[in-house]
Amino acid sequence: MTEKLSILGSTGSIGTQALDVCEKAGIKVAALTANSNSDLLEKQARKFHPEKVALSDEKAAAALRLKLRDTDIKVLAGRSGVCECAQQETADTVLNGIVGMAGLEPTLCALKAKKGLALANKETLVAGGSLVMRTAKENGISVLPVDSEHSAIFQCLQGMNKKAELKSIILTASGGPFFGKTREELKSVTVAEALRHPNWSMGAKITVDSATMMNKGLELIEAVWLFDVLPSEIQIVVHRESVVHSLIEYTDNSVIAQLGVPDMRIPIQYALTYPERIPSPVRRLSLAEYGSLTFREPDYETFRCIDLCRRAIEKGGLYPAIANGANEKANELFRNGKVSFLDVAELVEAALESVSSKENYSLSDVLEADKAAREFVESHVR
Ligand code: NAD
Ligand code: MG
Repeated sequence: MTEKLSILGSTGSIGTQALDVCEKAGIKVAALTANSNSDLLEKQARKFHPEKVALSDEKAAAALRLKLRDTDIKVLAGRSGVCECAQQETADTVLNGIVGMAGLEPTLCALKAKKGLALANKETLVAGGSLVMRTAKENGISVLPVDSEHSAIFQCLQGMNKKAELKSIILTASGGPFFGKTREELKSVTVAEALRHPNWSMGAKITVDSATMMNKGLELIEAVWLFDVLPSEIQIVVHRESVVHSLIEYTDNSVIAQLGVPDMRIPIQYALTYPERIPSPVRRLSLAEYGSLTFREPDYETFRCIDLCRRAIEKGGLYPAIANGANEKANELFRNGKVSFLDVAELVEAALESVSSKENYSLSDVLEADKAAREFVESHVR
């Protein structure tokens, strides 16, 4: 059970919910970091009294230093400041709720300082999976999932006798705001429509990833690394209600699921209290209130990102980093009105065909592949 936590990305959707969990569970806060939101980070610092805070944006960090000058909280700046917070001595655990590749080095910093790692930042596990898992192993750390599907699988696996008995993992997908739409209908969907997720309130990047279903592709790769399974051992099923958070199938065809109302505070809290459980502020699940739960095959032809990710992890090496980097850029361009919704999958596919990969990679290889994939996408926008 975590006693003192550092939260990276504390001003975001995951970060603010993690602080809510800390407050209710009595978990102390050692350090908080964000990108540039100095107003919210100041409020959080005054309320939770961390020893250190950091903003990656240097100007915003200077403003925060002024705001907090009447306190003894140390204010750090830039990437090195975020890493220093990830290594804050007084914390036993780090929760990484940064969005995108900016989370990779902080994850490695936390692991090298032998902190427990509660990981929401899926992009970096997708891009640098072997690097992250190897660093965790070398430092004797198990990576605890925060993503709801992976927390569900992790919870189901608690009853497993031995690995050979696991046959497959079944990831559930809400299908996002555009479930059931044809490619023709998707040609003209807007950013505002893509940001209207039916079940979850999340940051803009992951909400768009849910609309393209790239999120499920990223989660497939995330599951390969977290649970050491083959891509072919992972199935995906669309489940509109987001109540069954994922399932595992054993060799005897018995299937175990984890259920709950869609509220990220359950998986966040489990990652922090594991292996224990404590009461939570989240609503109880009433199955009778739902009445029925539905399950369907995904429409892989319309939502092509799932298969693109499956192919990327099957090919291995830097392909997942290329898919992720291309998607981060294409997702941003879509949100800024620069490309259409359907362009996102096309740009990811084109990047996978053009940017070169290699088998065994270092941190600098991952960062280079990410950069090359982003540049490819930028240069191919009409
Ligand atoms: P968000 O956009 O709401 O918050 C992102 C946080 O990261 C903010 O605190 C921001 O300041 C910080 N950040 C952004 N860029 C940064 C940079 N360059 N350097 C340092 N910090 C930076 O995002 P979110 O929805 O909270 O998602 C965070 C991560 O958790 C993502 O990887 C996402 O896929 C994953 N996740 C989120 C949810 C959810 O419900 N929100 C569910 C599952 C997984
Ligand atoms: Mg998820």
